[in-house]
Amino acid sequence: MGVKAAVMRSRGKCFVIGYPISHSLSPVMFRAAFAALGLDWTYRAVPVPPGRAGEALAELARAGAVGVNVTMPLKQEVLTHAAVIAPRAQLVGAANTLTLVDGGWEADNTDWPGLGRALAELVDVTGLAGRVGLVFGAGGAAAAAAFCLKEDGLRVVVVNRDPARGGDLAGRVGGRYLPWGEPALPEVLAQAAVVINATPLGMGDLKGQSPLPAGAVLAPGCVVCDLVYHPVETEFLRRARALGARVITGLEVLLWQGVLALERWTGRKAPVEAMRRALAEAVEGGQRACVT
Ligand code: NAP
Repeated sequence: MGVKAAVMRSRGKCFVIGYPISHSLSPVMFRAAFAALGLDWTYRAVPVPPGRAGEALAELARAGAVGVNVTMPLKQEVLTHAAVIAPRAQLVGAANTLTLVDGGWEADNTDWPGLGRALAELVDVTGLAGRVGLVFGAGGAAAAAAFCLKEDGLRVVVVNRDPARGGDLAGRVGGRYLPWGEPALPEVLAQAAVVINATPLGMGDLKGQSPLPAGAVLAPGCVVCDLVYHPVETEFLRRARALGARVITGLEVLLWQGVLALERWTGRKAPVEAMRRALAEAVEGGQRACVT
């Protein structure tokens, strides 16, 4: 079943799988999108523990799923259950968007172009070619970010604790690896046009932490993006703003990866504002719930 068939469906079932999954904001974002498009489609979060992606995907296919979003810790595992792996997912080594095509799962990565769209909303990316793009982290999200920056012509620098993972990702994007806490880091940071946090620093137990070293200085016009979106305003973004950077929140990247998945599944232009509003309301509601 391709996009054309999906467009003709009056009803479609979509899902997000991961573990844990109850925190996911994808259901509110996609349900708002279906409502705004007048589509009688459903979207449900399903908890799937690591090692169980294969049977879960087979079951969802039998249940008539059109598309499935994938989150931690299954983004690598789902590749082994895909009938087709799109080039971006192959390069990154992780998939976040699955589409049922002719009875098999096509795995794609919309974290990469989603970040690209979020960047392009803020800056003229053609002006970034040849500049330094620095990524903290070397996991799946960092790989999507690194390939996105490479695609836009930036010279990628990967900063990671584990030298093997950091060096491997830097090599895959033809970039440079810097160890975590490397003395040369402030100098490289001061030249970077784009700086991205793709580590969990700033969320959960690591709330209040930032990958920026003490005394860091950012280049004029630097764009800083935090992939962490809970909380939306992280310590990293707070410090980056104070240093004069333009910022992209993790919520905005979540939005654009969802926009691309929705357009792939429905063949329709995504109602971006309705999706953004639903995310913002969910986050505000969540924050109120935490306070009371
Ligand atoms: P992952 O594959 O587990 O990779 C995590 C990376 O963070 C690794 O490189 C790890 O370094 C590093 N790291 C972990 N704890 C650290 C610490 N205390 N100090 C320094 N580095 C640390 O995770 P992922 O899937 O790439 O996700 C990373 C983050 O991006 C998560 O917070 C996730 O929620 C977020 N994300 C957001 C979006 C979005 O749409 N906004 C999409 C995808 C992911 P080592 O290699 O040294 O262990």
